[in-house]
Amino acid sequence: MAISMHDEKSITIVGAGLVGSLLSIFLARRGYKIKLYERRADMRKNQVQAGRSINLALSDRGLLALQQVGLAEEIKGISIPMHGRYIHHIDGSTAFQPYGKEGQYINSVSRATLNIKLINVAEAHGVEIFFNHKCSSIDWNKNEIKFDVTSDSLNLKPQTSNFKFLFAADGAFSAVRLQHQLQHDKFDYQQYYIDCGYKELTIPATAAGDFAMRTNALHIWPRKNYMLIALPNLDKTFTCTLFFPFEGPLSFSNLDAEQKVRTFFEETFPDAVPLMPNYVQEFFDNPTSSLVTVKCFPWIREEKFALIGDAAHAIVPFFGQGMNCGFEDCRILDELIEKYDGDWSVILNEYQTLRKPDADAIADLAVANFTEMREKTADPKFLLQKKIEGILHEKYPDKWIPAYSLVTFSPHVRYSEALKKGQWQENIMQHVMQTPGIEEMWNDDALHESIIQKIK
Ligand code: FAD
Repeated sequence: MAISMHDEKSITIVGAGLVGSLLSIFLARRGYKIKLYERRADMRKNQVQAGRSINLALSDRGLLALQQVGLAEEIKGISIPMHGRYIHHIDGSTAFQPYGKEGQYINSVSRATLNIKLINVAEAHGVEIFFNHKCSSIDWNKNEIKFDVTSDSLNLKPQTSNFKFLFAADGAFSAVRLQHQLQHDKFDYQQYYIDCGYKELTIPATAAGDFAMRTNALHIWPRKNYMLIALPNLDKTFTCTLFFPFEGPLSFSNLDAEQKVRTFFEETFPDAVPLMPNYVQEFFDNPTSSLVTVKCFPWIREEKFALIGDAAHAIVPFFGQGMNCGFEDCRILDELIEKYDGDWSVILNEYQTLRKPDADAIADLAVANFTEMREKTADPKFLLQKKIEGILHEKYPDKWIPAYSLVTFSPHVRYSEALKKGQWQENIMQHVMQTPGIEEMWNDDALHESIIQKIK
């Protein structure tokens, strides 16, 4: 029998990553008693891996969610603004492409610092956190969840706990989702790996203790079917990520000897090499990780369970939106709790009805942006198109908003709406770019006016 949560104010969350921790804060502020279980050790006491990437781009959707719990300004204070892409061409030339209008930027933030901050705030709100607890199985009939312990030294014992309401915030490879999937009729599940993996490398601070490159930008070395990017950290280092094919003539599997790595980097990223004294060592020491998209449905089970964050919708990182989307899940859910006065039967249905199409949309946008970042940011025709779109956005800010801006700087526009508008604008621009002499007339008022006339 489903348990109504209307008066039962206790909730179990699995996963104290970015989304589970923020969710626990939202729910605790609404008066729910929260138990939060996390497989890893307490990051505050141990040097544990914070998860996948070392730093992340936090944009307006994530900030809006953080603002609802009073944390936006504090998190901005531990972030570095990135106003645009700084492109490093193979011939050594560089170009800066602003992300949006004057004053718009995304924020580079340390995953570990952000996660620790959220865990601290959760605890301050009375959330009970159980580290070293790994969900192993669930009995949906008895509402029982089992945890194995992941530390020998802490004298913990495997635990079975009853839940009234359960959230799965345990990431892309969610163990809780698997328990949901295996015991659910007609559960849709799709997972898709791209042919590229990623590896992180470091650009240290200079000998003078400064940033080695322009600070307030996301650096990209686009090289057709692969790319290197770099985001700044507060300690004046940059974390670089090489997105690179797993297999093929130029691939992780092929770069299997020191000299091959050196030759490849020196030929391909000539301006980055002098800034990365340890890249060869790091290349062999650091893991190569894969990138997956997960789409599934349903996200909820009766009135007692919901998926959230990457557990519901893992996406590739090329729009910098995975965490932002998960934070938005939390904000929307919180608004629904308010709207329906804690009646979970209505809240859950509306949560998945609203969020599923948006998660699908950002998943598709993220895959498409991979092509844009690695292939097109170095293509002159694409750059001209972006220049025209930038002018249209400046001249007609309410009529022409590029898809990137809709996703990144318009937190009240749904991802599904951003996808639709973006596709419509792209169709228009494809035609415009075929115009003979576009290279000369791109700045004509008449051209801009004719494009705007095509907007519905
Ligand atoms: P996770 O961060 O994966 O957290 C899940 C938590 O659950 C973890 O703490 C894990 O230890 C715990 N857990 C797992 N299994 C169990 C279990 N069985 N029992 C108990 N606990 C468990 N997003 C952005 O918005 N901007 C970016 O710039 C960006 N860059 C990225 C770069 C890369 C290379 C990658 C891979 C991702 C990037 N993302 C980015 C996406 C972002 O990392 C994720 O969307 C975000 O971490 C999702 O948060 P989450 O809490 O849902 O899942």
